[in-house]
Amino acid sequence: MKLYLKILQFLKPFWKAITVSLLLTFIYVLFNNLSLWISVDFVRELFEPEQVQSEHVVQKQKKNSPSDMLGISAAKNGFYEKINKSVKSLLIRNNRYDTLLMVCLVIFLSFFFKNVVFYLRQVILAFIELKIVVNIRNKLHHALMHLPFRFFEKRHSGDLTSIVFNDVNAVNVVLNNSFGKMILSPVQILANIVILIMISWKLSLITFLVIPVSTFVIVKIGQSIRRKNRRVFREISNVVSVFTEGVTAVRIVKAFANEDKEIEKFEAANRAYFKRMFAERRLRFATSPINEIILVLILVFLLWYGGNMVYSHSGLKPEDFIRFLVFLFTMFQPIKDLSGINNTVQAGLAAAERIFAVIDSPTEIYEPPHAIELKQFKNDITYENVSFKYNDDQENVLRDINITVHKGETVAIVGPSGAGKTTFANLLPRFYEPTTGRILIDGVDSKRFTLASLRKKMSIVTQDIILFNDTIRQNIAYGMETVSEEEIIHAAKVANAWEFIQQQEKGLDTHIGEKGIRISGGQKQRLSIARAILKNPPILILDEATSSLDTESERLVQEAIDNLLENRTVLVIAHRLSTIKNADRIVVLNQGKIEAMGRHSELIQKSPVYKNLYENQLLSQTES
Ligand code: ADP
Repeated sequence: MKLYLKILQFLKPFWKAITVSLLLTFIYVLFNNLSLWISVDFVRELFEPEQVQSEHVVQKQKKNSPSDMLGISAAKNGFYEKINKSVKSLLIRNNRYDTLLMVCLVIFLSFFFKNVVFYLRQVILAFIELKIVVNIRNKLHHALMHLPFRFFEKRHSGDLTSIVFNDVNAVNVVLNNSFGKMILSPVQILANIVILIMISWKLSLITFLVIPVSTFVIVKIGQSIRRKNRRVFREISNVVSVFTEGVTAVRIVKAFANEDKEIEKFEAANRAYFKRMFAERRLRFATSPINEIILVLILVFLLWYGGNMVYSHSGLKPEDFIRFLVFLFTMFQPIKDLSGINNTVQAGLAAAERIFAVIDSPTEIYEPPHAIELKQFKNDITYENVSFKYNDDQENVLRDINITVHKGETVAIVGPSGAGKTTFANLLPRFYEPTTGRILIDGVDSKRFTLASLRKKMSIVTQDIILFNDTIRQNIAYGMETVSEEEIIHAAKVANAWEFIQQQEKGLDTHIGEKGIRISGGQKQRLSIARAILKNPPILILDEATSSLDTESERLVQEAIDNLLENRTVLVIAHRLSTIKNADRIVVLNQGKIEAMGRHSELIQKSPVYKNLYENQLLSQTES
């Protein structure tokens, strides 16, 4: 039920448009039924012209006939009679020819207005439907942008892409195919039921016996369809994930000549999707035939029973019986529509569950209601008894870390792979929260600051450089609102990037392709350094690249980094001996603990882990 309430939230802003479309629906049904009603008069006019002329006389006689006692007589029902009379008085003229003309005119007008109203209604519904779909996508994207890292660790990007497109599309299909009918069908069915009861309540009663049977079938199939659709959406997510993974890793796939394996993986995912989808379709298509068979069974019985009533002159006029059948037949379509809608809606609900699972995911990172701005970084950063684990069932990755980094200091973090260096750095911009302990900036718990103001004070330059499929200018100025051309050029110069930028065909306006595919590794690094220089934050987190570049490129990058480090407080995950030797302090991390702290010469003496690291990794790297 909660799911329905959540969906209603998306409908709420459009209540005015929905009310108008409901109103138009009523008018549409009115004109539609009027045209049907008159169509019966039209048929009778053609085949029984005399009776039309003497209608009133006939009905007066009928009123006193014994068939009234049976309670089936149409004439007995005052309301039906009234409508019948007023429609007839509108139609019947002095002679047959005029009457025929009048019937034709009224039929045309009622069809005309019916269609005008229908069009207006469709336009309003399309407006509501498209707006809702756009709003859902925006809300999803908004939620995704604010979700913490933990969320993305658990979900594949292909899975999320699939939700934003396929699942939202499924909701779109529901709205497109069913939203209008969801309003129209019940109104149509209700209006037809009223007319049927007016014509003959006995025949109606027989008809309505079908409703519980048919509803039961519809509900049962609908439930199964929802279950099946949950599986379908999982499978299509898998197809998208395998696909995007294969395409983004195409270099590796080709390098390992693994194309056939990737093709097989994709085809297997696609087969699984086919199996689920086909099962869903088989069930979905069974709904309509099953329902139609039930309905026709009732219809045949009615034909037999009503026909007998007409033959035995027991009060039911042929004209009324025909009208009964016409309205009964026209009720079949909305009933069938409604059962079809249920199937589509159930598929949509399965999609909505997945959509809301993302929208309602907790934004783990806590920002207190009255968070303060971190205006200026003045003195120091302190890790106070910080411990951290990624998952509850995992051991602590960081244990009892205590360290104060003073303003302007460069602290190098070293340690064997898996020691917790990256985790240590990631806690500072609050990508993750310490499990216990806290991080203070100028003596204030960093949790008290707004995330935006905290992160504005730092730049992060990582090994895996993230560039956008955009121009060099936009990549350097990413996240900055107003920057002048001079500032961008200055940053590029300091980052040793200006020279190669100038050599590009369009300079700063050159597109670098997806993930910067059109420029070299060293150039990418220098662009990301230029980005950090332009941001000019007081605090810098640097994860030095381990992969070696060619000597010239290496020299340019190293110079750029040296420029970047100047006058900043720096946490550097260091892999180079030069960085380590230049650092004010070295922190040796081992299995999540600070093993030792100090300068290079001291650590060589007192830390066996550092000595080992120095001899086996740092030295050999420098030599190579
Ligand atoms: P380092 O940077 O020193 O190589 P990390 O900080 O990356 O070490 O990792 C420390 C430990 O935490 C490792 O054992 C690693 O397996 C684990 N770890 C890293 N990231 C995650 C994550 N997102 N979820 C679970 N465990 C992780």
